[in-house]
Amino acid sequence: MHELAITDGIVAGICERVGEGRVRRITLEIGALTAVLPDAVRFCFDVCAAGTRCEGAELEIVPVPGRARCRSCHAELQMQGPWALCACGAGDVDILSGQQLLVRTVEVE
Ligand SMILES: [Zn+2]
Repeated sequence: MHELAITDGIVAGICERVGEGRVRRITLEIGALTAVLPDAVRFCFDVCAAGTRCEGAELEIVPVPGRARCRSCHAELQMQGPWALCACGAGDVDILSGQQLLVRTVEVE
């Protein structure tokens, strides 16, 4: 479960930056192509946040769908995983979104 290490890194990174404050709310953007499961991150968050400035913080996860553009016909397609196959038959695409794992906002009180 690599989400534990990822969540631990996120919590550590936030704690480093907030200084003396206490974290009230965190918004995370998780792309569909990251292979990171939002539910698993939510589960790990409580464990990782315990005893830190993030303890008790509300965690909001914004899923970002995977999108790509075909290099042959320039159609835009949805991606559910790290594979893309355009309706035209081409598998050569440019990824437009869905690969990010971002801390979008942190509210500190
Ligand atoms: Zn195409």
